[in-house]
Amino acid sequence: MLSINTQLNTAPKAKPQDESKLGFGSIFTDHMFVCDYTEGKGWHDARIVPYGPFQLDPSSAVLHYSQTIFEGMKCYRRKDGELQLFRPKDNFARMNRSAQRMGMPQLDTETFLEGLLRLLRLEKDWVPHTPGTSLYIRPTLIATDAKLGVHASHKYLFYIILSPVGAYYPGGLAPNDIYVEDEYVRAVRGGIGETKAGANYAASLLAGMHAEKKGFVQVLWLDGVEQRYIEEVGSMNILFVYGNKVVTPKLSGSILPGITRDSVLKLAKHLGYEVAEERMDIHEVLEDIQSGKLTESFGSGTAAVISPVKTFSYKDKVYQVGNGGIGPVAQQLYDTLTGIQYGTVEDTLGWITSV
Ligand SMILES: *Cc1c(COP(=O)(O)O)cnc(C)c1O
Repeated sequence: MLSINTQLNTAPKAKPQDESKLGFGSIFTDHMFVCDYTEGKGWHDARIVPYGPFQLDPSSAVLHYSQTIFEGMKCYRRKDGELQLFRPKDNFARMNRSAQRMGMPQLDTETFLEGLLRLLRLEKDWVPHTPGTSLYIRPTLIATDAKLGVHASHKYLFYIILSPVGAYYPGGLAPNDIYVEDEYVRAVRGGIGETKAGANYAASLLAGMHAEKKGFVQVLWLDGVEQRYIEEVGSMNILFVYGNKVVTPKLSGSILPGITRDSVLKLAKHLGYEVAEERMDIHEVLEDIQSGKLTESFGSGTAAVISPVKTFSYKDKVYQVGNGGIGPVAQQLYDTLTGIQYGTVEDTLGWITSV
């Protein structure tokens, strides 16, 4: 493990007073973790420093060719005040898989995880207290070669920033209307859809803008070849409930393998549901919604944990899932998962790391 230097911020900010107005990702704490990579030398200069802008050469590779990946996880405050993380090693393992696909170096996971824990201990007072709030953690890796030639960079910058975030559902779970995107695609097999790369989001923004204009918050992506098989929703995976069976699209190479998705599948199995990963045809799914065979649908992701779907709109037709409310399976999975994350439900699956 590298040694980690700490330089304290001599001008710390006032912490947000009203935790009901935190929102998502616009307030940042006083410090960040940073580490440099140079080809031939490896990772070096691991440090915790005051939060602030980087100086980047305008020719930096990341600014031109989007060689950048990120992660998203949360630090939760328990009722007794202790802080905990949910499956952080899985986030770093996924970041390493993203790095591999994007031609970037493997992380020094041991140093970075220790750096994250030290950063969290230093910023512990920034973890909000209100139920449903948390401290969002954003590890990021960017290519910093100052060269316009198209080539994997020789230098990289890894950093972790922290942001106190509000409760996703201040008034309890709220079902969403989803637009099934039949014009644009997010990713194709063999591409970078299964990596957490910033470029995937750049490719998705226009569809999001169009859907927003029509009054939707999220789009459901179909496969990039036939636009027929269900992939995922915006920044969430998607699951469906058929009575006692929980089904989700099988990882196709263009679907992001969500840690919440994996947790929901494991938990559902643990709770006695039948669980399956299958290729899912949008036409069959919509038929099953109409016939009532399909009883619930919900998205899964770190931000919202579980996000019930009220309706799917496909080619100007609206399909309401069940009675349009919160299904019992979604509610049970939400309560159990958030219970484990906030320490009110016993962590029998070994997912919690104490800070
Ligand atoms: C991060 C992300 C998810 C959800 O992953 P979690 O690990 O559950 O937070 C789903 N889809 C996309 C495109 C993502 O970027």
